[in-house]
Amino acid sequence: MSVNQSAPPVPPFEQPQPIYPGYHQSGYGGQPGSTALPTHYGTYNGPVPGYQQTSPQGVSRAPPSSGAPPASTAQAPCGQAAYGQFSQGDVQNGPSSTVHLQRLPSSQPFGSPPLAPVVSQPALLQPYGPPPTSAQVTAQLAGMQISGAVAPAPPPSGLGYGLPTPLASASGSFPNSGPYGSYPQGQALPLSQAQGHPGVLPPQRSAPPLASNFTSPASGGPRMPSMTGPLLPGQSFGGPPVSQPNHVSSTPSQALTSGTQITGPPGALPPMHSPQQPGYQMQQNGSFGPARSPQANYGSPYPGTPAFGSQPGPPQPLPPKRLDPDAIPSPIQVIEDDRNNRGSEPFVTGVRGQVPPLVTTNFLVKDQGNASPRYIRCTSYNIPCTSDMAKQAQVPLAAVIKPLASLPPEEASPYVVDHGESGPLRCNRCKAYMCPFMQFIEGGRRFQCCFCSCINDVPPQYFQHLDHTGKRVDTYDRPELSMGSYEFLATVDYCKNNKFPSPPAFIFMIDVSYNAIRTGLVKLLCEELKSLLDYLPREGGAEESAIRVGFVTYNKVLHFYNVKSSLAQPQMMVVSDVADMFVPLLDGFLVNINESRAVITSLLDQIPEMFADTRETETVFAPVIQAGMEALKAAECAGKLFLFHTSLPIAEAPGKLKNRDDRKLINTDKEKTLFQPQTGAYQSLAKECVAQGCCVDLFLFPNQYVDVATLSVVPQLTGGSVYKYACFQVENDQERFLSDLRRDVQKVVGFDAVMRVRTSTGIRAVDFFGAFYMSNTTDVELAGLDGDKTVTVEFKHDDRLNEESGALLQCALLYTSCAGQRRLRIHNLALNCCTQLADLYRNCETDTLINYMAKFAYRGVLNNPVKTVRDSLITQCAQILACYRKNCASPSSAGQLILPECMKLLPVYLNCVLKSDILQPGAEVTTDDRAYVRQLVTSMDVAETNVFFYPRLLPLTKSPIENTTEPPAVRASEERLSNGDIYLLENGLNLFLWVGASVQQGVVQSLFNVSSFSQITSGLSVLPILDNPLSKKVRGLIDNLRAQRSRYMKLIVVKQEDKLEMLFKHFLVEDKSLSGGASYVDFLCHMHKEIRQLLS
Ligand SMILES: [Zn+2]
Repeated sequence: MSVNQSAPPVPPFEQPQPIYPGYHQSGYGGQPGSTALPTHYGTYNGPVPGYQQTSPQGVSRAPPSSGAPPASTAQAPCGQAAYGQFSQGDVQNGPSSTVHLQRLPSSQPFGSPPLAPVVSQPALLQPYGPPPTSAQVTAQLAGMQISGAVAPAPPPSGLGYGLPTPLASASGSFPNSGPYGSYPQGQALPLSQAQGHPGVLPPQRSAPPLASNFTSPASGGPRMPSMTGPLLPGQSFGGPPVSQPNHVSSTPSQALTSGTQITGPPGALPPMHSPQQPGYQMQQNGSFGPARSPQANYGSPYPGTPAFGSQPGPPQPLPPKRLDPDAIPSPIQVIEDDRNNRGSEPFVTGVRGQVPPLVTTNFLVKDQGNASPRYIRCTSYNIPCTSDMAKQAQVPLAAVIKPLASLPPEEASPYVVDHGESGPLRCNRCKAYMCPFMQFIEGGRRFQCCFCSCINDVPPQYFQHLDHTGKRVDTYDRPELSMGSYEFLATVDYCKNNKFPSPPAFIFMIDVSYNAIRTGLVKLLCEELKSLLDYLPREGGAEESAIRVGFVTYNKVLHFYNVKSSLAQPQMMVVSDVADMFVPLLDGFLVNINESRAVITSLLDQIPEMFADTRETETVFAPVIQAGMEALKAAECAGKLFLFHTSLPIAEAPGKLKNRDDRKLINTDKEKTLFQPQTGAYQSLAKECVAQGCCVDLFLFPNQYVDVATLSVVPQLTGGSVYKYACFQVENDQERFLSDLRRDVQKVVGFDAVMRVRTSTGIRAVDFFGAFYMSNTTDVELAGLDGDKTVTVEFKHDDRLNEESGALLQCALLYTSCAGQRRLRIHNLALNCCTQLADLYRNCETDTLINYMAKFAYRGVLNNPVKTVRDSLITQCAQILACYRKNCASPSSAGQLILPECMKLLPVYLNCVLKSDILQPGAEVTTDDRAYVRQLVTSMDVAETNVFFYPRLLPLTKSPIENTTEPPAVRASEERLSNGDIYLLENGLNLFLWVGASVQQGVVQSLFNVSSFSQITSGLSVLPILDNPLSKKVRGLIDNLRAQRSRYMKLIVVKQEDKLEMLFKHFLVEDKSLSGGASYVDFLCHMHKEIRQLLS
């Protein structure tokens, strides 16, 4: 009962809004009619510095997890429409013709790549326009060598970024201008751009320099402004001459200064990262156990690939060697560099097309006209102007949107704007909402829509004069004119049946069959609910929650409870006709918790006793959801069902299921059926739920197969979450379950929501992934949407884009708040557009790409053989990289693998997706586990997929004991483990503590309170609470990791060479996996071969 007492629910959007002096806060309980007229904003004037976003007053915001949260359920409309593009895309966009064209100097037959010597790339040999975007990772696979290649940066003619921008001025001038006025003084800009284009930000070629970008190389941040062309003198570290506004910064040896060659004996392995990573080198050979054999037998996962070691080729000075793992791009290094380079300065969103810091970097965001990356992240912030270019590159154009994301306390929640009865101002034609990109003209009497170019009249009450730059003088008084994210109070026109909604309700529906009682679940749950109900979500500042609650228990029949405040005791009503579900009572079913507290407490005390002797083992499932939905319908409100369910619903009733689990289907064409629901009944039910605004959260406690694929259909389509506790036992699992439950009940939810993504002319949203329902091609319907859930949107061209005007996205979410207020949350984002592919590659975000690609693949398995899905991913990745190589990299030997700086982790991360339990399951993974994870990933945000696919491995005993900050991670490979140390590994869902066999006795004693390694209990899930610095430090770290994740991670202690270690090793994703997944090194070799095939 601890957590909830100390942490009252404080959902982000019910926060007291940050106060601008004089800025009218449209009151919450407030009448939508009370307008905040422009005059109310009066005193707040102008942007910075007065414009600082004051942190919310009063109550602290949402749970600690705000930075890197969520995880939950769900998956897109199952089945239909799902996969089409998967294979299609490949056919359609094909191994893009251009990619074939170029024949590399030393043409070789497939499969026998030439073994070229390491060649660095003299910058002078840059024959063509597009500046290489990056430090190029050059892996000369022939000799298993890696070298760097210079990516010289000739200023492209006629393009903005050829202008040599002095570092100082560039870094000094950006922040703090308003959303528009972001141009550094003195930075030359084409006049037409500077003056702006109707409704849009002046284009910035390539991402503009952030102040934080300009860390000097010496400080470990080889990052340079993208606008500088030639290599700076003295930059001998060889950082990419064209710098990255993006994450990845290259490491010293990766890119060479012009004309420089990597030193070292021919054929040796020039270390790429080790010079910067002292920690790594030592660990590499400090590994324990049998040395990893060269993983040459790559043939198995990719038939037809000859072992690399045996490839013929030009003369090799040395016998083939295994690729040095230290010489290939390291996720750890990339993450570390980004933290160092971008973690110190706030990310200011005033400039179009800026690539934000990585999700693994802690940074603050200042909204100056574009939505924070906490709300929207894109695969690329610079979109090709034409669909031909986009097809050539094969880089998916997608945005991962988390509309209700919680923010850290230092950042302001979106301001609420109230336009009174007239409602939000919108474009008459495309219905886009007023935003900073709308262009006011004719002295302010009209505005041109930035999405469709329609000219609209400004209503008299909204009129305002323009200043000499054409900007409204009240721009900074109005969030909708100056900020990327804000909310509008909706008028009654935005409400169902033209009626303002009632406050939502929560209904708790508890399985009381034999299994639920026997495991102690029912008792535990009822006990917890007694206190948890005091922490239902509240609108900011409200004394109590407006949410009403109701209770149902069930096995083969349903029991409704009347908990009306006037009753002395709760009354039970049984409905046994589950085929035709109805709600036996209206009055007294949904109640205010405070009014009915005594009756509810009495009920929760009685439930475990009432069913204590049950022998009923069978359960129903669909009728339970039906009942909850009907109850909400009768009460004319939206809401959420919390279902606590234990078994396959085999009792005679609608939605009855049979056990159809069959592991023999794995790797056959029928494997997809394991992911599909076994009946269409749940889809129909889900559709009814969505229409009612009934969101379903499902807590599963299975002892065996329960068909998660089918049971999760309704949660998935209603924006709900699924939690699964296999073989639940109170003593082992209660902490995890209760922690998840508390968070789930308390978290902010928007109900009965519709989300629409509008785009400027030229692109449009064509595909959607996440936990929601769609009855047409544009509206994402969400019975519920919480702050953890993301909706991923893919865009395609339908016309040519324009570099000057860029591309705009506007995500509008209409929803009912937990107090029953109808609101619109708007997020705007402006992206750049390019005519050079190099600009695309320079502004990509690999973490977001992987998020999208995983979701695409995970949906693909519903309709395609898993192998087909895997092959498509590999092909797409190869096409992306081949296109870069052909069009953007400087010419070099075919024996070199050249990766775009921003995408140098694409191979390692993609390999993790390919090896995941969905696409390449190990023997120990159950069908239910796969279905569960599949739907979880569908609504994960970028931070979650990042750590889910590439787990964090933290050495605990390497840093001084007094240093309690999180130690730097090491790469997820067995080679990085030293048997004298202890490590934590987490991926957002799992948490392991690995103990090396030679750990000092003192350490064992301090942590486990036993005297030797052999006495440590394998599989332990709780560390003893001991009063010593090491114990405190490790337990503190564990708490910290848990706080960062949206689901409680249960700890498992694993001893080296113990049976459980197999489980742990599954997460060492750089290694070859037991289920046949390739090691990182092998996959990189394979990827290189694929790229060469495309290029030859
Ligand atoms: Zn419009």
